[in-house]
Amino acid sequence: MSNCVFCEILSGRLPSSQIYRDELCTAFLDIQPVNPGHLLIVPNSHAAFLSELEEETGAQMFRVAHRLAHALRKSGVKCEGANFFLADGEAAMQEVFHVHLHVFPRYPGDGFGLRFGPAYFQKPTRAELDSVAKKIRDVL
Ligand SMILES: [Zn+2]
Repeated sequence: MSNCVFCEILSGRLPSSQIYRDELCTAFLDIQPVNPGHLLIVPNSHAAFLSELEEETGAQMFRVAHRLAHALRKSGVKCEGANFFLADGEAAMQEVFHVHLHVFPRYPGDGFGLRFGPAYFQKPTRAELDSVAKKIRDVL
């Protein structure tokens, strides 16, 4: 047994309601959905964080998410919009340390929301934005 629940699902040792699988990634329903149809797309090879994930696998995960968001809207599952959510690191609310991209249906009054911190309401200056942009560009 692996101590990673998603590796256990991928190996078939734990059950899942699978939706899609290819050579790079697999999609199955979240067992604690925000709304019905909430699915997860995970790489087939264990990677705890984005920094451990091959870029092509990440690209394929997004391609599949794009396709499945479209499928959700056509499926009859209540879906007036969709959110994509990926938590990379504990500070970002990652709870299972095997990369996973959430795709979940949204509709008015579903009760889900995001909360902004106080810094959100104090817009940075252009100089501050440019300084942060430079720091990121410098390490690309
Ligand atoms: Zn894993």
